[in-house]
Amino acid sequence: MSKSTTISFEFFPPKSAAAESAMWEAVPELAALNPKFMTVTYGAGGSTKGQTLQIAEKMAAEQPMPIASHLTFLTTERETLREYLEELWDRNVKHIVALRGDLPKDKSFDDFKGDEFYKTTPEFIADIVSRHPFEISVGAYPEKHPDAATLTDDIQTLKDKLDAGGTRGITQFFFDNEVYYRFMDQCAAAGISKPIVPGLVPIHDFNGLKRFAANCQANIPDWVGAKFEGLDNNPDEAYKIAVDLLVEQSLDLTKNGVDHIHYYTLNKAGITREACKALSA
Ligand code: FAD
Repeated sequence: MSKSTTISFEFFPPKSAAAESAMWEAVPELAALNPKFMTVTYGAGGSTKGQTLQIAEKMAAEQPMPIASHLTFLTTERETLREYLEELWDRNVKHIVALRGDLPKDKSFDDFKGDEFYKTTPEFIADIVSRHPFEISVGAYPEKHPDAATLTDDIQTLKDKLDAGGTRGITQFFFDNEVYYRFMDQCAAAGISKPIVPGLVPIHDFNGLKRFAANCQANIPDWVGAKFEGLDNNPDEAYKIAVDLLVEQSLDLTKNGVDHIHYYTLNKAGITREACKALSA
């Protein structure tokens, strides 16, 4: 790693025993690259709550770097979230990626407007940091969050989240670095001075990524799709292309002054490891 570039890694709770052992193989391999922190996602509406806690606790016990639990508040009563925060703190998980989360398909925001629920992400963050001095990361959306009316509104929410106690933003994944650079200029113009860390995704499965991106309305440029065309039955070539893409994107960011990159590892070491090796070459 070049002296000035730091990295961090995201993992998610696996859905099968085979996926779990694959994740626990990837964790020490990536941890050996000395990330600044590692994070564990939290399934929609708390569906992975116990698993997230268990994985984060094990990582915190086995690895030297700080471990974060993602946490979403939208559909969960505040007392339940406060109990979970206590459990995290007691298990040495002292960094939260604090998020609103998404509405279940059959629900509306009105279903969660009672006093027992947090109303906004800044309110959630302020309550977290009032209970313990957790480090807080928050979501940032260079292409605008789908619920925000305008990018300006979305950047104002990002500022409110950081002002409420966030340490940094971590972006939704993107492939066009120009979009990120423009977003950084807009954040600076809005008075944001805390770091907005780019979140990059390795393409282990292009078709799977397309489905995921459609779900969260993230853009995959046509030129990325074109690179994987005709490669459904050629995993070795697809892997090489994915490594080149992530290496190029990472190096371009560092050339343009980015000093920390967050990787959505998808619980696999390979492509992310190659990008990190290129950063340190
Ligand atoms: P916010 O920034 O609070 O809101 C997004 C935008 O919507 C803002 O512009 C806000 O002003 C606007 N808005 C908020 N509420 C309303 C409303 N009621 N009506 C209209 N507009 C509104 N999801 C998970 O379930 N688990 C995870 O582990 C997880 N990890 C993530 C990690 C990162 C780095 C990122 C970027 C996202 C992650 N997500 C995760 C997805 C995230 O939960 C969704 O993107 C969610 O829709 C927004 O959460 P937020 O905290 O960023 O929202």
